[in-house]
Amino acid sequence: MHTQIPIKEGLFTWPSSKPQLLGSRCSRCAEATFPAQPDCRNCGSRETHIVELGDRGTLWTWTIQTFMPKQPYHSSETEATFAPYGVGYVEMPGGVRVEARLQPNTAQQLKIGMPMQLAIIPFRSDEQGNDIMTFCFTAVTEE
Ligand SMILES: [Zn+2]
Repeated sequence: MHTQIPIKEGLFTWPSSKPQLLGSRCSRCAEATFPAQPDCRNCGSRETHIVELGDRGTLWTWTIQTFMPKQPYHSSETEATFAPYGVGYVEMPGGVRVEARLQPNTAQQLKIGMPMQLAIIPFRSDEQGNDIMTFCFTAVTEE
């Protein structure tokens, strides 16, 4: 079992059996943001606090990424192993839209408005053999 390290601190609760996406909410105007920001982009207030945004949302829009993203994208994929994947915005309860990689990766499997579930997946390995974990959204299979 490798150690699983989040790709970036503060994006999601980890380790957790039921990880939640983390964002920030403005104490003055209640605007929520992902990823968390020290300043409110709505009213400019510096009074923001970290909130859990939940682990489910609905698909707001999507596309299929058919080529390797440019640097600094850095996964364990190579041109030879790269497979097209879905990418889109998932709207969380409260209205925050989160750009994320999507697990269903064909146009037939993706539909605007479909329920999506947060998942934490291995992205690549670091030099020590640890798994660097990132988040994605998968289609909800059960209610
Ligand atoms: Zn604000």
